[in-house]
Amino acid sequence: MSAPMDRNTTPAPLSKTNSDFRLFDEVDLPLLVERMGTPLHVYSSNTIRQRIYALHSALQGLDTLICYAVKANANLAILQLMAKAGVGADIVSVGELRRALNAGIPAERIVFSGVGKNADEIAGALNVGILRFNVESHDELLTLQRVASAQEVVASAAVRINPDVDAQTHAKISTGKSENKFGVSIDEARRWFTARKSLSHVQLDGLHVHIGSQILSLDPFRCAFERVAAFWRELEQAGHPIRSIDVGGGLGVCYREGVDHPIDAADYVGVIRHALAGYQGRLLLEPGRYLVAEAGMLLTRVVRIKPGVERQFLVLDAAMNDLQRPSLYDAWHDIVPVIDQGRPMTTYDIVGPVCESGDTFARGRELPECEAGDLLLIRATGAYGASMASTYNSRPLAAEVMLQNGRYAVVRRRQHFEEMIAGEQPARNWETP
Ligand SMILES: *Cc1c(COP(=O)(O)O)cnc(C)c1O
Repeated sequence: MSAPMDRNTTPAPLSKTNSDFRLFDEVDLPLLVERMGTPLHVYSSNTIRQRIYALHSALQGLDTLICYAVKANANLAILQLMAKAGVGADIVSVGELRRALNAGIPAERIVFSGVGKNADEIAGALNVGILRFNVESHDELLTLQRVASAQEVVASAAVRINPDVDAQTHAKISTGKSENKFGVSIDEARRWFTARKSLSHVQLDGLHVHIGSQILSLDPFRCAFERVAAFWRELEQAGHPIRSIDVGGGLGVCYREGVDHPIDAADYVGVIRHALAGYQGRLLLEPGRYLVAEAGMLLTRVVRIKPGVERQFLVLDAAMNDLQRPSLYDAWHDIVPVIDQGRPMTTYDIVGPVCESGDTFARGRELPECEAGDLLLIRATGAYGASMASTYNSRPLAAEVMLQNGRYAVVRRRQHFEEMIAGEQPARNWETP
């Protein structure tokens, strides 16, 4: 029988005293929860900074820009931290554009990805002068040309290549297979470059690739980057200068100690350096999860233990509306008691209060025996946690707190009931469209 997590073999970005998870970024979590309540998202700013530093160090000597994928965690305080560290943004909507600008990320460090950009969104992004559009279809390319021409500006564009590579990750977070909706084939991209002179208001001089998320092996990256590199060499030969290559995001993190072995930033950058040897232009990266996932945790209390016919249910006060990944992707998150009281291990199905069987964080999980009121940590929730939260079951959005060297700052207060229903109204004013 294996322990649910090998705490002693794999270092975690978490301060531990003996086997407790009491301290995070030197903040005493039980005391914090007394002030803030649960469920509570906490983010270690030092852990985020360490990740940025690791990536910047690995990239030394290259002309690079890290564009943080805002969708991973769009909290303004996180974006401010990115801005201060010189990190740009990869956005997929005008809402994210406004957040990034609001947080102080300059437009010239913002790239715009996504298959569904409409003319209004493109106009908004052109207006503020973002760095580049990652274009995902020919129709979008023509829309960009039309909108840029109307604004009398020249838009900078990269074509998002779908390299038809299997990222060996969960199907719902795989994006680089030909069956996925993202990007275009190299054959189609080649035709865009051949005709690029016909685009008076689009400067097509970039390549972009993003094959998926939570990737734990170098092979899919190597394969994708080599395909992109071969295409870049071909384009240069054909007289199409490439000024920027964007390698996307996708670096995996440790959700399950002792099982997930994330790629080292230096090894990842080594693969990029090798594939793009001789490339003189600018390198863009779009990490999301890598920068914030392990910096975040969700604090939750046990509501009760419910014995079932076949299984025991551990009912938490956090639910799928606070953290969707387990129900959406069957994702594993390590779950640990904040204070280990040396109780014997037992097996639980760990669930939330939402009225859905899918509101399950873990099935058959081994955990020290719990009691109502115990404080638990769901680990590595900093990415695609709060940013995917909803108010399903009319549960207000949880509070979010930034931690740093023993102190904390509220970066999103717990949503009030009135805020949750703001904008709703009785059907009183009936009109004909
Ligand atoms: C989501 C996304 C990213 C970030 O992916 P991670 O796996 O979080 O690093 C980067 N680029 C694009 C285009 C994306 O859609």
